[in-house]
Amino acid sequence: MVNSFVVRIPEAIYQEMLEHVSAGYPNEACGALGSKDGLVVKNYPTANAAEQPDDFSIIGEADMVRIFNDIDDYDGDMIYYHSHPISEAYPSPRDIEWAKRGGYPYLIFSLQYRPEPPYSRIFIIDSSGAVTEGRVEIVK
Ligand SMILES: [Zn+2]
Repeated sequence: MVNSFVVRIPEAIYQEMLEHVSAGYPNEACGALGSKDGLVVKNYPTANAAEQPDDFSIIGEADMVRIFNDIDDYDGDMIYYHSHPISEAYPSPRDIEWAKRGGYPYLIFSLQYRPEPPYSRIFIIDSSGAVTEGRVEIVK
């Protein structure tokens, strides 16, 4: 698959995300990132508001409003991230349905190889449901 876009994540933020999704196990964990020109500048780990958090993840409405407002302050872009405790780091059919409406990139962690550290992949899903993979670059 062609890497069509790159998102750069500072190492310290990536480490926080790894800790957040690991702490959420065996449930899915979720949160958002604020980025500016392809560089992640802020991490917003949140609770998972899904009814069955071992099967899906949703950022609650109050958290979402708070995050959107904050990202607006620096005119950034939102990236949604969540974890798959036992399946691969690829959008599930339900993820695709939600992502079509959201319009922001999806970064997905998989914990399927525990105790190995979680790995991640990032995707853009357009309004037709087409999935395009990008690349995560960890920067100092
Ligand atoms: Zn998912």
